[in-house]
This record gives sequence, structure tokens and C-alpha cells, in this order.
Amino acid sequence: MRETLVLNASFEPLATVALRRAVVLVMQNKAVVEQAHGGLKVRAAHVELPVPQVIRLRRYVKVPFRQRAPWSRRGVLVRDRHRCAYCGRRATTVDHIVPRSHGGGDTWLNTVAACAADNHRKADRTPAEAGMRLLVRPFEPTPADALLLALNFRDGEGLPDWLRLPAPAA
Ligand SMILES: [Zn+2]
Repeated sequence: MRETLVLNASFEPLATVALRRAVVLVMQNKAVVEQAHGGLKVRAAHVELPVPQVIRLRRYVKVPFRQRAPWSRRGVLVRDRHRCAYCGRRATTVDHIVPRSHGGGDTWLNTVAACAADNHRKADRTPAEAGMRLLVRPFEPTPADALLLALNFRDGEGLPDWLRLPAPAA
């Protein structure tokens, strides 16, 4: 897949994104094209754009000092692509693997996206206690993921295809 480098407004490189995502950022006026492939065009909506190699965000994005994304429910859903960690169906809730009542915290490694039915079924138990198996291993988002969250993608915008995820567990 063709990728585009994203620079911060300050020209500092932030991440690479899929071409389609880069085009959307330009179309939404969130980024400008700094460098394009000569001759190659991409058609988006009703316009033709040169294929962007490098884009730059119009607004400066503060990258967290530690380059770690602060935990949030929305962030967990985005990280897990709204897929339930127990059944793979669409997830709308966040499950604490070790329940909060057992001392489990609001951390990236202790939370996964879950469908309402599985979250309800698991209730106040660990997966082992509930006889449920995690299909995916939760992970701490990378700096590129942190950028995504900092850009404030909303759930309604669809799944960001440039969010890098480890291959799903077999
Ligand atoms: Zn489920």
C-alpha cells in the first residue's frame, strides 16, 4: 500500500498514513500537500489531486511528551477497531479484563473493546472465572496511534484505516 508521510505544522515528521487517509486530511483542509508524485493523480470526490508523498498538518498537534496516548474508553474502541475481544462482533463497550472491583485499572493493557452481550455475560469476573477467552491481546498504543487519538477522530467518522494494529491472533 502506498503511504504518505505526515508532518506536524512545525515540519517535524509524525507518522505515515495510507494514501486514502492523507487525501481525506487534505480534502478536509486539515493538511496541505508539501510534496507530490509528479504526474500521478488520485481522484477524490470530484477533484483530482497529485498523489501526496508528504503532507503537513495545518494545526500543530501536541505530541504527548512521553509519546504515549492517555487512556480513554474511546481510545480503546478505536485501538480495537470496535471489535469485541471475546467474539469479534461489533463492540460498543469497554471491558476491564481484571474488573475494577478486583483492583483492575483503567489502563491500555487491562481494557478491551467488548460487545454489550459479552460485557454483560462476563460481568464482575475475570475471563478465567467467566470461562471466556480473549481473541486479542491488548496493547499500549504506539506514538502513531497516539497521534490518531490526538487528532480527535470521532466514532462517527468510520474506522481509521491508517491505525496500525498487530495482526489478529489466529
Ligand atoms: Zn462479544
